[in-house]
Amino acid sequence: MKKGDGSMIYMDNAATTRLHPEVINAMLPYMGKRYANPSGAYTFSADVKNDINNAEAFLAQTIQAKPQEIYITSGGTESDNWAVKIAAEEHRRGHIITTAMEHHAILKSCEAVEKEGFYVTYIRPAENGIVRLTDIQRAVRPDTFLISVMAANNEIGTIQPVAQIGAFARRHRILFHTDAVQAYTNMDIDVNAMQIDMLSTSAHKLNGPKGIGFLYIREGCVKTPFIHGGGQERGMRSGTENTAGIIGFAKAAQTAMANKPVRTQYEMRMRDYMIHRVLTEIPFSRLNGDSRKRLPGNMNFSFQFVDGGTLIVMLDKQGICASAGSACSTGSGMPSHVLKSIGLPDELSFATVRFTINEEITRQEIDYVVNCLKNDIAQLREQSEDYQNFL
Ligand code: PLP
Repeated sequence: MKKGDGSMIYMDNAATTRLHPEVINAMLPYMGKRYANPSGAYTFSADVKNDINNAEAFLAQTIQAKPQEIYITSGGTESDNWAVKIAAEEHRRGHIITTAMEHHAILKSCEAVEKEGFYVTYIRPAENGIVRLTDIQRAVRPDTFLISVMAANNEIGTIQPVAQIGAFARRHRILFHTDAVQAYTNMDIDVNAMQIDMLSTSAHKLNGPKGIGFLYIREGCVKTPFIHGGGQERGMRSGTENTAGIIGFAKAAQTAMANKPVRTQYEMRMRDYMIHRVLTEIPFSRLNGDSRKRLPGNMNFSFQFVDGGTLIVMLDKQGICASAGSACSTGSGMPSHVLKSIGLPDELSFATVRFTINEEITRQEIDYVVNCLKNDIAQLREQSEDYQNFL
């Protein structure tokens, strides 16, 4: 059974998003006639450099930062690596606090610095997927120099108490980094009000191009370059600028910010409608992560007695794109570390599917997806020995 009109229903926007048509239009000139190297000494280059500066200034504005505090990177992974590794390099020794539910870009960077003699505490969130400030307060040591807690989780969508953590970190003069790759343009971010010192973003999560993002660094917080070379990005991250990417990123951010209130309200309505239908119409189903403090488009369900991977394949045949846990760990055969961190037993982790919608989703499409889910799950349970024994 394919969706009636043969088109697909894409519900994996946390993995990546489609380029917005306005983003493509904005980028095209920089892949064509505006090809100058921004570092050139002539007007042709100066014009392109000027466009880059304007784009970075706009990106800065979206989080209430100064233009000189935005450093373009190749995306979320690089930004996260930079934040952890450079903070460690500048401090030489000491302790980092992070959470067990971070993206692997943070977790693996922390493991890398642990091998160099740094200490890392990985805080487990509460069962609802939200980190408790008291757990962070308890973990602090005299040598703690960095706290890194994501603004919103990529698998279960839970929104973390960033402002409270920021205030606490500032009081203790500890650097505070947040991975805002999923949160950026989906929730309000003000780096001053929230006392954030470093913040990671990635354009491809907001209908921008892949391979581009930024790391915000509060002025004076970190001074060591991450990539050495020709001195681009104010000497901190060298390499000829990805002009089209930067312009596309700023355009994507502009588009996302412009319709944010209407878009996120609509997504939340559609999200809550689907959550309600799933939880009331599919027995033995559960929503992972807090039902209110979650990203507007995120749903993460576990369906007892069902293999999530098999369900994804069935949904695919019905024209529906969803993911089992995070895209990065799909295929690893390991239960999701995020679901583990909230105490979900492995058998439920393997029974988990994530749906992440955008503003293009319709109620009819959600009805179609829920109906497919009901049929597929009933079929899988009929074949499940565990389910039959349970009955
Ligand atoms: N951090 C989070 C929370 C993410 O969701 C992702 C991507 O899924 C990343 C970091 C990595 O970003 P990128 O794909 O731009 O390297």
